[in-house]
Order: sequence, then structure tokens, then C-alpha cells
Amino acid sequence: MAHPPSMARLIEQLTRLPGIGERTATRLAFHILRAEREYVQVLAESVLAVKNDTKLCSECFALTEADPCRLCTDAERADDVLCVVEEPADLLAVERAGSFRGRYHVLHGTIAPLDGIGPDDLKIQPLLVRIQQRAVSEVILATNPTVEGEATAIYLAKLLKPLGVRVTRIAHGIPVGGDLEYTDVMTVGRALDGRREM
Ligand code: ZN
Repeated sequence: MAHPPSMARLIEQLTRLPGIGERTATRLAFHILRAEREYVQVLAESVLAVKNDTKLCSECFALTEADPCRLCTDAERADDVLCVVEEPADLLAVERAGSFRGRYHVLHGTIAPLDGIGPDDLKIQPLLVRIQQRAVSEVILATNPTVEGEATAIYLAKLLKPLGVRVTRIAHGIPVGGDLEYTDVMTVGRALDGRREM
């Protein structure tokens, strides 16, 4: 016997989420069906709100509701040091470590020729504009220590050095093949402290 259409539709939509197979989707759909109406209402509204209200900061490309974001408008942060990360989640990981007090720049990916992702698909051009327009003295390349992250760091280092800025790379306190998002705050903090010249 098949699920009623509304149930089948929910299960189908849930299976489109990463890491959710049909079994998990079915379990989640039954959970939602049995949950309090108030919770389901908030859940549905939250899903829509994240799409409606969250945008990219026009300065650093972090996720934000206000543009420019609070990291870009925070007067306590240093303007002359930029920390370049792959994804918004990586920015949060560095921020959680608590030792960095400069500004950020989110690339939104890495150069990955096999996946057809080139420099023009990332926020590299706005990074160059930022460095040239602001008094940036150091750029910390905090891309992940993966093959793509390293290749992107090397590409950026070549591009940025002629601009006369100090280009540094976070140390490999983070396991090779790992991900900033899932690294403990101590390791992220040490990796930042041990950054080196490129
Ligand atoms: Zn920003």
C-alpha cells in the first residue's frame, strides 16, 4: 500500500536533502506527522525564512540578514588583515576559535577543474578589488588542507603577492583531508597562530 499523496510528497522532498535516504526520510515524515502542530508550523516557517531573509554580505560574502554583515561593520576588528575561507561554515569555525580579530572573505568554493569550477566561479575578483581599495597589509589563506584547498591557496598566493600584500597560509594543525567546519576550536586556533609565509 502506498503512502497518501501528501505523505509521499514530503518523503520525496526530504530524500533530496544530503545524507537522507528513503528510510530516514520516511522516519522524519512520520515524526513530523505526529509532532505538535505548533512545532511543524515553526519548522516550515524556518525553512522559508532562511531562503527569504538570508543573503550574502556584499563586502565579505558571509551569510547575513543585514548588509554589510556585523563582521564587516564591527569597529573593533582590524581592517588590514583579511582571512580567506572556502565556505561560510569555515568562517564560523575560525570565529569560534576566537583568536582572529581581522576581517573575512568567503570564496564560496575551491578551484576544482575536475568539477568544472574555475577561478571565475569563486569570489576572487571581489577579493582583488577589496585588497586594492582598502589598506590590506596581510591576507591569511585559510582554505582547507585538501588537494583543492591547497591548489586554491597556491593560485591566490601567486595572484596576491604582486599586489604588495603579505600572503600567509594557516599551518597544518588541521588534519590533511579534513574540514575546518568539523575541527575543534583548539586546532583551528593553533593553525591560525602557526600560519606561514607562502
Ligand atoms: Zn561582511
